[in-house]
Amino acid sequence: DTLINQIAAGEVVERPASVVKELVENALDAGARRIDIDLEEGGIRLIRVRDDGSGIAPEELPLAVSRHATSKIASIEDLEAVATLGFRGEALPSMASVSRFRIVSRQAGAAHGAELRIDGGKPGQVTPQAHPPGTTVEVRDLFYNVPARRKFLRAERTELAHIEDWLRTLALARPDVEIRVTHNGKPLRRWKGDGHLLNDVRLHEALGQEFAHNALAVDQAGAGLRLHGWIARPTYHRASADQQYLYVNGRSVRDRNIAHAVRQAYSDVLYHGRHPAYVLFLELDPRGVDVNVHPAKHEVRFREARLVHDFVYRSLHAVLAQTRA
Ligand code: ADP
Ligand code: MG
Repeated sequence: DTLINQIAAGEVVERPASVVKELVENALDAGARRIDIDLEEGGIRLIRVRDDGSGIAPEELPLAVSRHATSKIASIEDLEAVATLGFRGEALPSMASVSRFRIVSRQAGAAHGAELRIDGGKPGQVTPQAHPPGTTVEVRDLFYNVPARRKFLRAERTELAHIEDWLRTLALARPDVEIRVTHNGKPLRRWKGDGHLLNDVRLHEALGQEFAHNALAVDQAGAGLRLHGWIARPTYHRASADQQYLYVNGRSVRDRNIAHAVRQAYSDVLYHGRHPAYVLFLELDPRGVDVNVHPAKHEVRFREARLVHDFVYRSLHAVLAQTRA
């Protein structure tokens, strides 16, 4: 079983950033309002994510770290309409098989919490442990037992940069959640969580200080789809290729089809060359989009890709065309 989990870890846990991403997704799925992240040595030595979410019952802890055990979907119908960020039940067992892993959790009503340690895939016993309502997961010494994988980890600051990329991406979609990050014991980030993305430092960090002053609000709906967020005015010339954030039902995804629709809208209005800067959220019936395309969940497949493309194009064209007047 450990071997199978380690093989799965190859797809889900590529580097410390993927661990952070999966743990933060779990915290968000658990309804966390505040997430505390402590990192050491670019996450290679330690990743600790604590949330104030729903928590896990002591008897459920062994299940949470078992392969393909997810509490988020129960049937094939659920899989066709995933509303959570996680659904594959692979992240915890994968990371627990390639690290010194510890999970402590307590449900709101419970008298105390419980802890489970797993060392390189070998689980210990569930023991009582004090913990505020919510969950803490610790991943230490990533890949310590898989030298071939460990070898591919980069310098501390490179791994940290990857983590920060993911945190920015996740945080942008949830300005209602407070997120604090420390690295080697020093404060690294603090995003407040008051819900106003346009004023939020997380937006400034992701898209540049001037983006907010040069952003056009998007909020268009039709044909069961909604597109909202902000795009840079065509005159905002500072954008680079990595200032493009796209979310489908709250999940950050890469999608050529939508990226193409955005580019097309820009170039048809008046804007040529350059990369448009944007943070856009597309919402649709979860049955219209398959999220189970890849273990890392970075891609989706639309049932009606053409319809989505044309909706995004028309929505953005309408917003951009106003700037021409
Ligand atoms: P998935 O997120 O795909 O369900 P994971 O391996 O990430 O799979 O997590 C397994 C299960 O453990 C989840 O389905 C959930 O029930 C539980 N779990 C994990 N992290 C948390 C958390 N932070 N708070 C509450 N429950 C959690
Ligand atoms: Mg998960």
